[in-house]
Amino acid sequence: MKITRISLFAQDQPFRDGTYTCSGGRSAEGFESSIAKIETDAGITGWGEMAPLGSFYDPAFVGGARAGLAELAPALIGQDPAQVDAINQRMDLLLNGHPYAKAALDMACWDIKAKQAGIPLAEALGGRFGDRMALYRSVPQAAPEAMALRAKKYIAEGYRRLQVKVGLEVKDDIARMEAVLDAVPTGTVIFADANAAWRQQQALEFLRATRDLDYVLEQPCASYEANLAVRAHCDRPLVLDETIDGLSSFMRAWSDRLIDGITIKVTRVGGITKAKLIRDAAAGLGIGVTIEDTGGAEINTAVTAHLMLSTPESVRQHTCDFYNWVTSRHTRPGFADKAFDARGGSMTAPRGKGLGIEVEETALGVPFFAVGGS
Ligand SMILES: [Mg+2]
Repeated sequence: MKITRISLFAQDQPFRDGTYTCSGGRSAEGFESSIAKIETDAGITGWGEMAPLGSFYDPAFVGGARAGLAELAPALIGQDPAQVDAINQRMDLLLNGHPYAKAALDMACWDIKAKQAGIPLAEALGGRFGDRMALYRSVPQAAPEAMALRAKKYIAEGYRRLQVKVGLEVKDDIARMEAVLDAVPTGTVIFADANAAWRQQQALEFLRATRDLDYVLEQPCASYEANLAVRAHCDRPLVLDETIDGLSSFMRAWSDRLIDGITIKVTRVGGITKAKLIRDAAAGLGIGVTIEDTGGAEINTAVTAHLMLSTPESVRQHTCDFYNWVTSRHTRPGFADKAFDARGGSMTAPRGKGLGIEVEETALGVPFFAVGGS
């Protein structure tokens, strides 16, 4: 099987619940998604999707993603998409770094590989563990009362796991946590996520003041060393997200006993191939695993859902239904609700072959780049 044509599309995906704000006044109104379609001489088509959270969140931005995709696509024409490791090695030789720019192409190759085998992607990734996976919703930074209201809305929608965005002034962060915890039912799983925004001293101050609250601490500080220092004073589970940018950062954090869990963002690490490598290592070592991404809609949600469903339940944390965060669609009306069946704070992975996503290409408009024969 050979790749005959690659088309790249852009899609604006406005947030359903308005502006998304995290520490330092950083905010976005939606995702700017880049979508890759790979066609083959076997008549099998694959899809992948990358969407950064603005330009402020990760070392990734929409212009970089689109330039990188267009740089790489011509070099994949004629290659066998089912040989995903060889495809990844080729992309890494051609373009040093920029893993986020490679991710959508890697995803489309996996979609084709699983379709060729006639199985859902989760099965191609190692197997299906159960049927459904837990979802979380982020409660973005706002006044404590507004965050409590937002938390209640998500509880009413069925979510039972919330990520409270902290990482500003510690006394305000404490008020935010208390307001949200007061507003939600007992048993709600709370992650306090600072998105790497605290200084070491602030993280320690927060830990001291919230000793009696029940939560998991996520990515308190930016630097590895600061997180390691915080770990020494943290007797609750600690999850790293922004730090985990590849296998070596995961292995380092594991060998330093820094982490109880990790968040793998698929495009941050370069796609499914590399996310699977980290996931398999973490699962084998008994470290908790969240697999999600920086953004996107149905295609990207399907990628994270299949990766999550093929992660053993003993280490599975939660993921998010990004397609529900945005108002745009690239599948026909009603398709996504049926395919993911998101309800009661959980969802499933689409049951069709590959990603199980039937893309409505008309929703994507004209490609911003295409290469190969028709
Ligand atoms: Mg996080």
